[in-house]
Amino acid sequence: MKKYLLSFVFIILSVNIFAQEQLSKEILHNRELIKIFEKAYPQVNFEINFDESVNDWKIQVQCENRIATLYWADGKFLPKEELGSKDLYSAFLYPYPKEVADPKNFTQEDIQRIRDFSNPKNRSKGKGTAPFLYNVIYDVETRLSTETHIKTFLFLNKRTNAHNYIHKKLDDVQKEIFEVSKINDEVKFFLDNLNSADSYAWRKISDSGNRSFHSMGLAIDVLPKGWGQKNLYWAWRRDIDGDNWMKLPLERRWMPPQKVIEIFESHGFLWGGKWIIWDNMHFEYRPEVILYNNMKK
Ligand SMILES: [Zn+2]
Repeated sequence: MKKYLLSFVFIILSVNIFAQEQLSKEILHNRELIKIFEKAYPQVNFEINFDESVNDWKIQVQCENRIATLYWADGKFLPKEELGSKDLYSAFLYPYPKEVADPKNFTQEDIQRIRDFSNPKNRSKGKGTAPFLYNVIYDVETRLSTETHIKTFLFLNKRTNAHNYIHKKLDDVQKEIFEVSKINDEVKFFLDNLNSADSYAWRKISDSGNRSFHSMGLAIDVLPKGWGQKNLYWAWRRDIDGDNWMKLPLERRWMPPQKVIEIFESHGFLWGGKWIIWDNMHFEYRPEVILYNNMKK
């Protein structure tokens, strides 16, 4: 009997130690993920301490005169008072694929999952990405504060308004695109047929609580003069083809040249064409997501 009791105690102890090890592993892994943000935003000061009382990393974020105390909160960067509604927010870091997912490989299950995910009812449930970190980095808490940073300039020879912060990045992007267009006919055609490059607009993402990157001046839509029978944006396709918009073959989506996508990505911009709910004209500045996905390769 004593022997059984001993092994019982031993099992309990080892389960406990194992659980603790798992926990500390996770804590250390999270610390590594925070480093991605330090790298992505070098002008921001991140002061990081472990807070035993909530068992999570406490991150004091400072940029110029803006400051906030946030918690890692599963990659959601939340202030203490929001920790209780953690589940409503989505994480900053997510898998961003190397290639566009081809609908011809979708299973019935995939299709159902996309239907559920893109359903307006489900999309309005969450709060989306938490605004607290970006408010410190970009000073975009209100329309008034945002607009003090919006600057008009030429991007690919089109007038655009974007956040000051990405002006230099967009300038680097366009320099490379112009350079490549001299030797790449597809890129030259893309430039010659560009209609507009629109960035800042104070608006929300349709049918979700998520704030659009356009409303911070951190996204840019490159719109061609025409797209014939092709399709630019998943929700416009949904208006035509209700439940089956996601089955549209890849070749029927308008795409910017691969080289253009690569140049944007190398400067920290995501292309919306790789999202399951594709937005093929859309690029947004997410250096942390690019760094995170490069790290996993
Ligand atoms: Zn857009």
